[in-house]
Amino acid sequence: MIGIWVLGDQLHPAQSALAAHRPGGARVLLVESLSVLAQRRYHRQKLVLVWSAMRHFAEDLRELGWPVDHRRASTFAEAVGAWIDDHGIRDLHLMEPADRPFRAAIEELLARLASQGTAPRVVWHPSNAFLWSSEAFDAWAGRYRQLRMERFYREGRRRFGVLLDGQGQPLGGQWNFDQANRQAPPKGLRGPRPLWFDPDPITEAVIREVEALPDLPGHSRPFGWAISRGQALAALEHAIATRLDGFGPYQDAMVGGEPTLWHTLISPYLNLGLLHPLEVIRRLEQAGLERGTPLPSLEGLIRQILGWREYMHGLYGWFGADYAASNHFDHRRPLPPSFEALGGSGMACLDTVFAEIEASGYAHHIQRLMVIANYGLLAGLDPQALTAWFHRMFIDGFDWVMQPNVLGMGLFADGGRLASKPYAASGNYINRMSTYCRGCRYDVKQRVGSGACPFNALYWDFLQRHRDRLGGNPRMALVMRQLEKLPPEELEAIRATAAAHREGWGGTGGDPGPG
Ligand code: SF4
Repeated sequence: MIGIWVLGDQLHPAQSALAAHRPGGARVLLVESLSVLAQRRYHRQKLVLVWSAMRHFAEDLRELGWPVDHRRASTFAEAVGAWIDDHGIRDLHLMEPADRPFRAAIEELLARLASQGTAPRVVWHPSNAFLWSSEAFDAWAGRYRQLRMERFYREGRRRFGVLLDGQGQPLGGQWNFDQANRQAPPKGLRGPRPLWFDPDPITEAVIREVEALPDLPGHSRPFGWAISRGQALAALEHAIATRLDGFGPYQDAMVGGEPTLWHTLISPYLNLGLLHPLEVIRRLEQAGLERGTPLPSLEGLIRQILGWREYMHGLYGWFGADYAASNHFDHRRPLPPSFEALGGSGMACLDTVFAEIEASGYAHHIQRLMVIANYGLLAGLDPQALTAWFHRMFIDGFDWVMQPNVLGMGLFADGGRLASKPYAASGNYINRMSTYCRGCRYDVKQRVGSGACPFNALYWDFLQRHRDRLGGNPRMALVMRQLEKLPPEELEAIRATAAAHREGWGGTGGDPGPG
């Protein structure tokens, strides 16, 4: 008997292991294993999303004529071993996992079965979940000494023929309209309402099961994410109708009470396989051109998927397993208790974003980059601990996307392999791009003292602590010159303010340590 084991982030009916067979020609296995919680205490909404989506996918495959076994077990080994025995599986087909540790765990599981004499022959199918295969990305990356996303993105536009005129040139005469897309939020800015879905009986059952599991972060209700390909396609169409045209101008804005603004909320569906990136890009392009969507919005959104998302995935493979241990600044502070509690930092920006994550497992890219990761960088938080936190807390978090995004882009822990400079910013940036500071107990204009915005002291403290490493970066030259102009007594007051802030974390967070 031929068996196909479909992983929880491979939920597309045309994924490569399924596509290699016809319905009825093989048994399909989906496994929910509680062992994932031994490694990571995932946000409740994330568990509900993944497990409910797997159960709905099993239903969808049955309708297409596949015999499907859906198993829930303490470990993957227990479920897969029993399934192989029950059905006499001789050939086991899998699509290559996106996350490297999962491939290693499966290899180990199969080796254990082999030692018991029960292992089937294993056939790995190259993943078709991304536009760029690993081989194609590596061939591209091998041509350059310094990798940069913009070059990769342009190559992707040409390679897949997206937003080009008849001569292979970019529509609108330029490749990137980002300059038009960084507007601060005007007073009273409100985005369109997102499309949320009421839980059906399958999702309700999963929610109850997840609620019975102890000590997980995040709220399980209200739960409104799409849990099937049909709903994910509806969410995409809704985003096109209500969010696409306005996506560009305020994509970097952060507004209290408006957690989603014009963000499309489709990243979880892309990362689970419910939507394929190429179908989304083609549909966005077609709909955007038909609707007359402003090019900065259309190009900006397509760049997120064709550019950033593919680039993150490609770099994850290209950098290799050692990348996970990157720690350029030797930062070792544990996360403050407010990260685990998703609140209680006393800083309006962090606490607003934490509350939104607690409610839905979601925050948009600037909240992630310029509030949370920026804070982690400036405060000297352990990059591995913060990356693991992102992976657990975010509804769309996986190893392949969080490693380059958090370690590389957010924390510059790779010393510049991904980004050309650290995304470090004082409270000024947050004040300009958000409404948070108005309701904060700290004064964003102050640099030192107990009432000063902690981002300010942490920012200048970060720069002086890492003078040597940052001084040679031409993109940091301006700010490093400003640092050199600060009088010694001001620098001392900054150090004291930053230290006092860290001591206020409580627990072990305030321990003095490297970074
Ligand atoms: Fe955040 Fe500082 Fe603004 Fe408060 S004042 S919301 S801590 S940036």
